[in-house]
Amino acid sequence: MFRLNLKELFKTRKKLTGSYTLKPDEIGLPPDLGKIVEPVGFYFEITKEKGGYRIYMEIEGHVVLECSRCLTLYHKDISRKETIRIEPYPTRDVMYLKPSELDVSFLEDEEAFDLRELVREQIILSIPTKPLCSPECTPTLEEREESKKVTLGDLLKKGNVL
Ligand SMILES: [Zn+2]
Repeated sequence: MFRLNLKELFKTRKKLTGSYTLKPDEIGLPPDLGKIVEPVGFYFEITKEKGGYRIYMEIEGHVVLECSRCLTLYHKDISRKETIRIEPYPTRDVMYLKPSELDVSFLEDEEAFDLRELVREQIILSIPTKPLCSPECTPTLEEREESKKVTLGDLLKKGNVL
């Protein structure tokens, strides 16, 4: 269902659109990143262009993350709109990428393009490495102690005590 034969599909059209809902187990998010508890919806538009395809994508959903400071679980909105260009792996004749083309994803198999994998990548990209339940989340007592120590050490260094 999520594997598209782009070669075949685009023989007769210039644009392909659709929308689907992915169940949490269809996304298969690595548990150390977060947990998806409700289905994630997405809409896509694929347009064929010279040398590849352009995909416009809207993702709607949220993921449950653990705050890296206070350790509470919170819902993070992962909704995003993205435009991605995909193209077949470069051949030997195309050895360099222009800076503007660095956001290109390479297409492993034009006849079995995995749309679900692309959605999954986009979801993973929207998960912060150090999640915070709110920008003002208070550091834990331990962290406060830790920063005090550093400050004290710096002061001592400045005063040539160490
Ligand atoms: Zn927090």
